[in-house]
Amino acid sequence: MNQKPINMGVDCKVNNCYYHTTENKCTAEKIEVGDCAANCNCSEDTFCKTYKEK
Ligand code: SF4
Repeated sequence: MNQKPINMGVDCKVNNCYYHTTENKCTAEKIEVGDCAANCNCSEDTFCKTYKEK
């Protein structure tokens, strides 16, 4: 069971991330979001760099 505090300001559906909870919340203390396209101009062009494999 994940005992780490939940970051209530982040909703996330990345089920296979170490920080993900069953309530679709994030337990990382902070997250870093970066771009994955040269000219990032929509949400599909962003991703979470704090992601960590379970
Ligand atoms: S670290 Fe990023 S990918 Fe992982 S649960 Fe938090 S917001 Fe989602």
